[in-house]
Amino acid sequence: MKISEHVYRVHINEDDSPFGTYHPGGSSIYFIGNPNTNMVVMDTGEHYRSWTDQILAYHKELGSPNISNIYITHGHYDHIGGVDRLQKEFQCKVGCHINLKSKLEMILEEGIVFSIEDQEILKVNDNINLLALYTPGHENDHICYFLQEEQIMFTGDTILGSSSSSVRNLKQYMNSLEILLDHKPTKVFPAHGALVEDGTAKIKSYIQHRQKREEQIINALTKNTSQNVYEIVDFVYPKDLNPNLREAAARNVRTHLEKLSEEGKIEETSPLYSLNNN
Ligand SMILES: [Zn+2]
Repeated sequence: MKISEHVYRVHINEDDSPFGTYHPGGSSIYFIGNPNTNMVVMDTGEHYRSWTDQILAYHKELGSPNISNIYITHGHYDHIGGVDRLQKEFQCKVGCHINLKSKLEMILEEGIVFSIEDQEILKVNDNINLLALYTPGHENDHICYFLQEEQIMFTGDTILGSSSSSVRNLKQYMNSLEILLDHKPTKVFPAHGALVEDGTAKIKSYIQHRQKREEQIINALTKNTSQNVYEIVDFVYPKDLNPNLREAAARNVRTHLEKLSEEGKIEETSPLYSLNNN
């Protein structure tokens, strides 16, 4: 479906899975450019044949435009799954962050994969460019792409449409959110979930949400000078927290503690954390 002047989206609904929901709000693969001249494709979805077939069917629906490049946001398997088959159909190059290059080179033939630098400007056609922004945090090979002509930010898994993202390195992640905010995008087009109409407000709310959580954790450590992760979870999260979510909450608290530790604000005497009073 055409969703803006230069952007077209294949939306793949969440599959019913016995393991629960992996992609809240479904997944989006974007075609960017002009179907009459040239386009690029962003991400390639899961490896399931049904996903790749939907992407190829949409390409046909667009009139089988020339695809010059596939650009990858990051190397999680729901973003690079169909890459070998799609590359073969499109006979295009595949661009990604240098940290992902060797992994893709194992799937694709020689000379196909190239690495994209932070701040690199990628020409789509005579009218539009994508600005690549290295934005680690969700993953250390993550790139967001900014369509300057329309002020649209393609955020991969850094910002999602329907839920908050999982984070591997929170310090890097917060820094990446600031980079996204600096570009003041009007819209955010994420890899999962709904399109975001007020991109800048969404990024700000992501930042505030994490800042608030950090304050709560510091508060927990202040009230009780030394605590393990689960005691912090009990302090910060509601008393009636669903037991199934307790592990996820603990993981989240841990990413915050790692950030505070990196910043020298807290001390870890495993398994306990305390405020650093120096
Ligand atoms: Zn991911």
